Amino acid sequence: MNRINSKGDIYSVGLPDEWPDEIRGGLTLRTGGVSLEPWASLNFSERTGDAPETVAENLSLLSLAEGIDFKGAARIGLEHGCHVIRTEAGGRLGSADGMVTRALELPLALTVADCYPLFLATPAGEIGLLHCGWRGIVGGIAEAGVIALCRISQVPASEVWGWIGPGIGSCCFEVSPEVARQFPVETHVPSQVASGNPRIDLIEALTLRLSAAGLRDKRISAAAECTACERERFFSHRGEQGNTGRMLAWLLRTRG
Ligand SMILES: [Zn+2]
Repeated sequence: MNRINSKGDIYSVGLPDEWPDEIRGGLTLRTGGVSLEPWASLNFSERTGDAPETVAENLSLLSLAEGIDFKGAARIGLEHGCHVIRTEAGGRLGSADGMVTRALELPLALTVADCYPLFLATPAGEIGLLHCGWRGIVGGIAEAGVIALCRISQVPASEVWGWIGPGIGSCCFEVSPEVARQFPVETHVPSQVASGNPRIDLIEALTLRLSAAGLRDKRISAAAECTACERERFFSHRGEQGNTGRMLAWLLRTRG
């Protein structure tokens, strides 16, 4: 069972209990914000048609609820690649799908709706946050994130924690045979739908990648909640035909 952190009307699916206490983070649920349909209500993206003032108000609500200044967060423009930026400062960092930092009290944040947020941390508190869609996973975003985190921390990958947040489950991630061929057979799920198209287990795909990057199995875990199935709680790009909002994945190293 995943931990749900409640701050008034704002909820996040929280990091696993076994993670170091000084690291905070999670994935927001879609409720508790001020956006109207089809972004109702805690939408964090201006790129889906929602008003920038409304998105800013949602960010203020989250900041107030968590006691964290998310306006100063490090943010990236997602590109479904495997570029990871090292940062010690907040603001818009450009196009990438991952960030790593050693900085204290600097929130890393990115938006998702079906793509997986991947959270990384070392025992000493360096952190990384990655955006993992299927293209990025195939391209090596998980490994790139682990390498970048190990580089800034001088910690071996075997000491790194990895948590795969909520994303589109194998129940709902139907793909073309061309896409399926880019994934190892262990991740293929037999089709139960009329189309006969294969389905891919992206959590398994990410787990295999993290394992190959050197993480120990017991340090890898997943929320295993499907954003396309649970539309009361999550925005789903695929489940809502692209006409929806985005959750915020965030990660922060506190002073402890
Ligand atoms: Zn599903």
